[in-house]
Amino acid sequence: MVGGAEDLAAVLAGIPMPVVMIGADERVAAANPPALTLFGAAMTGRHHLLTFRQPELVAAIAAARAGQAGRVRLVLPGETQDRVHEVTVSPVGNRVLLAFEDLSALAQMDQMRRDFVANVSHELRTPLTAMMGFIETLQGPARNDANARERFLAIMAREAERMNRLVRDLLHLSRVEAEERIRPSEEVDLAALARATVAALKPVAEKGGVAIRLLGADAPVILRADTDQMTQVLSNLVENAVKYGSPPGSEVTVTLGHEDGPRGPKIRLDVQDSGEGIDAKHLPRLTERFYRVDGHRSREKGGTGLGLAIVKHIVSRHRGRLLIESEKGRGSRFSVLLPLD
Ligand code: ADP
Repeated sequence: MVGGAEDLAAVLAGIPMPVVMIGADERVAAANPPALTLFGAAMTGRHHLLTFRQPELVAAIAAARAGQAGRVRLVLPGETQDRVHEVTVSPVGNRVLLAFEDLSALAQMDQMRRDFVANVSHELRTPLTAMMGFIETLQGPARNDANARERFLAIMAREAERMNRLVRDLLHLSRVEAEERIRPSEEVDLAALARATVAALKPVAEKGGVAIRLLGADAPVILRADTDQMTQVLSNLVENAVKYGSPPGSEVTVTLGHEDGPRGPKIRLDVQDSGEGIDAKHLPRLTERFYRVDGHRSREKGGTGLGLAIVKHIVSRHRGRLLIESEKGRGSRFSVLLPLD
């Protein structure tokens, strides 16, 4: 049984969502800390109309005073965007209890899902449209033109390869997300993986006149990790450094090392380039799916816009951190810090 005002406040304080009790005198009898944060600390003891002015909510409170429970939607202006709440209005004797459920997080998730589907469709449609155009041309006007056929087939192969890369990255992303809460269990030698990755990417880099230097990878660097995923982190970061961060004649440096932090020893992987760098305003968004500084350039270089999103998920599965430091015109450094157990 709820007794005095103190008991009531204690009961409300135990509820995680904002809740407000309006007394028989129509004043706010009690409000829990989340409600005080939402509506301001001054609400307690004041007439409820000073805090709740929305006509539907006022009507629902009046109805509850007459014994009828109700639900209303309440939009509260926020700093960056409006917050949508569903308010349950319940009669409690001659008092009225309001409970506020924040629907913004759900609405945001829904919006993210819609954006993701729209992005994927757009990314797939571009190469698909190009291929359909060439197929039509090959079936019609260019049917007997051997030169055009060769040229168009080469373009179609490139577009198909782009779609293939996109689907592959989407699958990687969904697999990494699904495994995010499963702790990796293999013993991995990061130094060996780094040597193999650098060797695999060397031919591509050399084609662009870029040298890759690997430091700290002579002795084994062992940690509990997922081999495939660590390979992916290494190759995505080194590939980006070569792709975006390196004018001909420059060098990409990959460094493995140990670092001691307040929360124990860590392995540190740095991938440093001396290329175009990234403007500070882009840094916080780089790991979002499909976020690119220059969409045209990324596509031209065969990018899917998913590489860093995948890296971020893998690093978080390994309870590590991804740091990005960059200055426009002076190159970038992508660092991965991985805790040693
Ligand atoms: P993408 O497939 O486009 O390469 P990523 O997720 O790997 O996708 O990278 C996102 C964007 O971040 C890239 O499009 C590029 O604009 C920028 N970027 C990534 N690495 C670098 C780098 N080393 N130097 C400059 N820009 C970079």
